[in-house]
Amino acid sequence: MIFAKRRSTVTAYVGDVGVGSSHPVVVQSMTNTDTADAAGTAAQVAALARAGSQVVRITVNNDEAAAAVPEIRHRLDDMGIRAPLVGDFHYNGHLLLKKYPAAARALAKYRINPGNVGARHRDDNFRTIVQVAVEHGKPVRIGVNWGSLDQDLLTAMMDANAKLAQPADARDVYIEAMLESALRSAALAEETGLRHDQILISAKVSLVPDLVDVYRRLAARCDYPLHLGLTEAGMGNKGVVASSAALALLLTEGIGDTIRVSLTPKPGGDRSEEVYVAQQILQSLGMRSFAPQVTACPGCGRTTSTFFQKMAEDIQGYLREQMPVWREKHPGVEEMRVAVMGCVVNGPGESKHANLGISLPGTFEEPKAPVYMDGKLLTTLKGDRIVEEFLVILEDYVARTYAAREAAATA
Ligand code: SF4
Repeated sequence: MIFAKRRSTVTAYVGDVGVGSSHPVVVQSMTNTDTADAAGTAAQVAALARAGSQVVRITVNNDEAAAAVPEIRHRLDDMGIRAPLVGDFHYNGHLLLKKYPAAARALAKYRINPGNVGARHRDDNFRTIVQVAVEHGKPVRIGVNWGSLDQDLLTAMMDANAKLAQPADARDVYIEAMLESALRSAALAEETGLRHDQILISAKVSLVPDLVDVYRRLAARCDYPLHLGLTEAGMGNKGVVASSAALALLLTEGIGDTIRVSLTPKPGGDRSEEVYVAQQILQSLGMRSFAPQVTACPGCGRTTSTFFQKMAEDIQGYLREQMPVWREKHPGVEEMRVAVMGCVVNGPGESKHANLGISLPGTFEEPKAPVYMDGKLLTTLKGDRIVEEFLVILEDYVARTYAAREAAATA
């Protein structure tokens, strides 16, 4: 094994999705719709699930949202979407879960932030949520967040630290306070009746070094399944790169059982992007396969046109569009590798290493594109319809190769 063994030893079930221990790392996401809008929220959950999110979190922040949860679940069931729903509760979770038992039943997990369960009756409110979870047999994620840490606990720990002969630095105390909040809450949840295997923990911060530090310490002190994510990762490249760096470091150390990439989408952007990035992190590490991978060269002075870049993008888009159908119909297709290369320098070589590869003509090369299948030259394409003809070859390859595997498996 290249990477460290998984550190959690417990499996928690979120609906029928096993999280922790030997289960594959689970990809999660979260909606950004108004949960009270049941139709809009169900549509976004369905889109996230079709993109590959195995668990989807929705905010449950008021009466209207709580009242809409059962309808969202029904709509998803009617669409054939089985992804479990997680309710995200802050401040009033103890009230909403008691007042809306149908919502408590429809949710597969409750997420509680111990810093946001109310200042005056913190432990009582927390216990109330846990009692509802016990009653309905639901797991709970105790989700501590740097931005909403239990202030009383933090103050007490800062005061105690200040009295030491050699006080630790404030960052260290902050991190210890996060861990203390999470682990104390987990102990309180177990005292209240939640089983050890019904608890998951997260402790999110927004800087990569801090996140790595927090989770290394957390994994050393407990065996609960851990949910990983860099909170407020940000927009575009910054969010993608920071999340990838943080999650990859921890995952290779065996830390992390579910992941979410918290990207800020562009206005009107595709929320599913966070699912694709999370999948790509796991697939790039060789931990899981979700969709066929396209190997494309970066291009250089040997290719004066952007044709091959466009072709690589078109093929990647095509593979992504086909995956919801292929996933059901052609198991194993997610392992397929496709190469789209810009010229003969590395084109044929890389194409031979892929299941299917095409090497386009570079500048001043003969205008033809050799296609390789499983390492052997299959044909050479020419003319204006190279992309279309290559996609026909691709579809044919998928249908023959992966249908055959399915038949063999059931024979
Ligand atoms: S394969 Fe050809 S076009 Fe692509 S980077 Fe290499 S030399 Fe340049």
